[in-house]
Amino acid sequence: MATNIILLGPPGAGKGTQAARLQALRGMIQLSTGDMLRAAVAAGTPVGLKAKAVMARGELVSDAIVSALIGERLDDAAGAGAIFDGFPRTRHQAEALEILLAERGRKLDHVIELAVDEEALVRRIIGRFTCAHCGAPYHDEYKPTKRPGVCDICGSTEFKRRPDDNEQTVRTRMAEYRAKTEPILPIYEEKGLLRRVDGMAPVETVAAQIDGILDGTQ
Ligand SMILES: [Zn+2]
Repeated sequence: MATNIILLGPPGAGKGTQAARLQALRGMIQLSTGDMLRAAVAAGTPVGLKAKAVMARGELVSDAIVSALIGERLDDAAGAGAIFDGFPRTRHQAEALEILLAERGRKLDHVIELAVDEEALVRRIIGRFTCAHCGAPYHDEYKPTKRPGVCDICGSTEFKRRPDDNEQTVRTRMAEYRAKTEPILPIYEEKGLLRRVDGMAPVETVAAQIDGILDGTQ
């Protein structure tokens, strides 16, 4: 049976990891608005052409276009279900999603928020770095190299950090996330669909909790 969920969480909460896992293990399809928009424009679908014209004028893509786009892809996700990512963002979009699903005899099953503690998230993100040679991942606090400045795996002394892994960027993204999700949380809280999972817990713990929600054991 198809399970349709909305997965919420700020960048760095582990949403991508969990969505990839649900796709691989359950065959669910992740419907991320940004990715879909780019794909539809590239493929030149009717909705894609419309969106392209709007974006070319420097305007924001309307709710109607986003909804049409979701409709185009929903049929692909008929089997195991869909993971909505970045949609809905407004009450109006939430209503549109309900209609799109109802038209197909389907419904939204859960809204799962990967909740994060902002301070902990900042520490998690700004501390991470990788070996410039072999790509081994490290963290200043949680996983330093055994010998300072030397990669445990390959012995390289060069490391790199992603330029957007800085405190200001993390806080800006967090504020954007709050602005975008706050309007929709009450809608799903009222419907009893909202579930919160501790996004700061280890990846396996988060995965087990999501599985429990999807399988109705939690
Ligand atoms: Zn290395």
